[in-house]
Amino acid sequence: MSIQDHIITLKQDEAALLGYSEDELISIIRDVGFSCDGCGRCCTASYNGHVFLLDSDLPYIRNNHPEALIPAPDFEYGDQHGILYVSGYALRVHEDGRCLFLDAGNRCEIYENRFSICRIYPYMLHREPDANGVVEWRQISGLGEHGEYHSEITEEEATTIANQVLSYELDFVRQQIGFWEAISLYFDEQNLRHVRKIYDQALRRFRKGEPVRVMVYAGGSFEEHIVGIGEYRGFSSP
Ligand code: SF4
Repeated sequence: MSIQDHIITLKQDEAALLGYSEDELISIIRDVGFSCDGCGRCCTASYNGHVFLLDSDLPYIRNNHPEALIPAPDFEYGDQHGILYVSGYALRVHEDGRCLFLDAGNRCEIYENRFSICRIYPYMLHREPDANGVVEWRQISGLGEHGEYHSEITEEEATTIANQVLSYELDFVRQQIGFWEAISLYFDEQNLRHVRKIYDQALRRFRKGEPVRVMVYAGGSFEEHIVGIGEYRGFSSP
């Protein structure tokens, strides 16, 4: 997919989010009645991939736990020199995939300061293809796989959750749009070009254990890192 196609698709996602009925989301949240039973599964990479951090999450973690930051695992783009590019940071995990902040009793050690995605989980608002390839909205992650259901959630509580979910999803998609727009500008300015073969080779070298340069788009600019596959132990990708 070209850079412009990424931007067009993301802008369609943004428009769809803006058009989504908040009342419908509130109704779904109340119908599902999710309540956490403290199983801790949602805080593991084996169950949920990585914890993606919005730009608004970065000041707390940079100031308090900078060692927990890692370039997000799915390197999205590359240039002709074999440098890889990704939008945003993720949280590191232990080798067994548990979040660095998940204690032995499955409690979050930084609960009061937990990150945006942790605050809305398991609620979400994504359009995804179902088993038959039909694109549909999903509002709850892991429905029926964890937690308890049919708890009483007041209209007021559900409204607060719905607002947080919509706000998160809009921030997320706008951060992705910002990434691809910045890539477009940066590649033009620096006379860079995407060569699929070189991108694939860089990923292969990385997976074999060779460190790679990764430019992370965060807070409106690119930050350079050298990363090795060892730092991603516990993740299912890259
Ligand atoms: S920061 Fe806390 S809530 Fe978020 S994934 Fe880690 S342990 Fe879970």
